[in-house]
Amino acid sequence: MITALRGMKDIIDDAPKYEHILNTAIACAKRHGFSFIDTPILESTALFRRSVGESSDIVGKEMYEFIDRSAESVCLRPEGTAGVVRAFIEKKLDRSNGTYRFFYRGAMFRHERPQKGRLRQFHQIGVESFGQKSVYEDAAVILLAKDIFDALEVKYKLEINSLGCVNCMPKYKEKLSAFLDMQDDLCEDCKRRKATNPIRALDCKNSACKSVYENAPMIADFLCDECKKDFNDLQDILNQNGVLFSHNKKLVRGLDYYNKTAFEFISVEIGSQNAIGGGGRYDKLVEQLGGKPTYAVGFALGVQRIYDLVNPPQSKREGVYIGAIDDEEIAHIFSYAAALRKKVKTFIEYEPKKLAAHLKNADRLNAEICAVIGEEERANGAIWLKNLANGDESRPPLSRWLESDFN
Ligand code: AMP
Repeated sequence: MITALRGMKDIIDDAPKYEHILNTAIACAKRHGFSFIDTPILESTALFRRSVGESSDIVGKEMYEFIDRSAESVCLRPEGTAGVVRAFIEKKLDRSNGTYRFFYRGAMFRHERPQKGRLRQFHQIGVESFGQKSVYEDAAVILLAKDIFDALEVKYKLEINSLGCVNCMPKYKEKLSAFLDMQDDLCEDCKRRKATNPIRALDCKNSACKSVYENAPMIADFLCDECKKDFNDLQDILNQNGVLFSHNKKLVRGLDYYNKTAFEFISVEIGSQNAIGGGGRYDKLVEQLGGKPTYAVGFALGVQRIYDLVNPPQSKREGVYIGAIDDEEIAHIFSYAAALRKKVKTFIEYEPKKLAAHLKNADRLNAEICAVIGEEERANGAIWLKNLANGDESRPPLSRWLESDFN
């Protein structure tokens, strides 16, 4: 038997949750003025090397990267932002100086060690906003994520931090590097991070490293005046708009492109993989990928991470199930079903069956009406109906029933 690959899951039993999360998030994003964008799953490997960054675990260890039949190095996208930024530049939207707000949803791929809440193929819903320098936009995307979680009735904790900018971050990095140089017992990953991007060390899950970093210099103490003001303003705006948060001074993100605002939504109700969404500002990325300098801020939510936290509304009985007792009626019910579908959700069964079997099928499909034609109905030009919601049975004339409006 060929099975799905490790860390990759079919969406069958969880389909109602998946649909509920997607529909809810999309409705919220549209209400906030974001429009749909879809970009390819397969992109040039260079795109992620230049955006997510060589020092990140994603690029360093987790990419599904291969040489295709045209000898090009390509990669299954590990995240959504880089592709949206590439599309934004390719469509020359960076030259218009306008504001563009997009949402996307789709599969992402990371070759991680699978465990509960951590898959190799998982789905994200993300938003990217381009063109706004104002810190109000950072607050607005955080409010959008909050609206989504609130609409899904998912409880969360919000952590925020500022990662500084080109003026203050390099000075902080130097301080942090000097601190890291003095430590003897860093894990192998942190030794690598020290050389590539020292701030990523603060994200280390190793307990020995974590205790070392308790005494590390923090970016909060090195922010330039503008970053400090933006971060204070962000906190004021969130406070004024009823968003609860805490300042996590060690919050850095797993991707290198963030500057200034970084945030993460965490669930206290799931296991160790408790980050349910995260994002921040990335004002340098458009330029880094060859576009005109463009302010940008966004986030991505992990769909599978919140499966256990949502209860999709109970779907109520809906539509018509139509079947026949004997063979002669199949061609007719096929035509009736074609007509019914223009007005009402319709299920059809092609195998002639006894009434009890049809009723069972209709029940399993959650249909509201079970409609069956047998010998007696054929003789009288009628149809037998049972309303599975209230148990009512009737045998109206077939033509009248087909013409009814099914509301
Ligand atoms: P990131 O792109 O790393 O900032 O991740 C954004 C969100 O995607 C996280 O907060 C998680 O909810 C989700 N996520 C990231 N990696 C995985 C994974 N391997 N499996 C399932 N969900 C993930």
